[in-house]
Amino acid sequence: MTVLLGKCLCGQVEVSVHGEPLRIGICHCMDCRKESGSAFTYYGIWPADAFECRGDPAEFRGQRFCPHCGSRLFARDGEEAEIKLGILSMAPAGLVPSYELWVKRREPWLRPVDGAEQYDENRT
Ligand SMILES: [Zn+2]
Ligand SMILES: [Zn+2]
Repeated sequence: MTVLLGKCLCGQVEVSVHGEPLRIGICHCMDCRKESGSAFTYYGIWPADAFECRGDPAEFRGQRFCPHCGSRLFARDGEEAEIKLGILSMAPAGLVPSYELWVKRREPWLRPVDGAEQYDENRT
């Protein structure tokens, strides 16, 4: 079974997921811009029981990050874990987004991802 490993910049928090993701997305919303400090977030959703974390991440509004280096890591609720794909130990990750959220906030110099569903705001 496929296992993907990720860690924060300083290495004190590690995550792993196994098996296929439920979906891969990109979000251009204001919260994602501010949280990431970048133009969008790139993330994958796995079932919560396919996800493990080692270390002691801090949390703000459900988003977990490393308290030492500030890397954004993941969010989870009861059923799903959302992993920020930039923390994976391989780059490029090769996981292609199947949808984009909040495309009305997308920078005009970014093009839509080929074949990805486009949502003006959140998925309905
Ligand atoms: Zn760290
Ligand atoms: Zn967002």
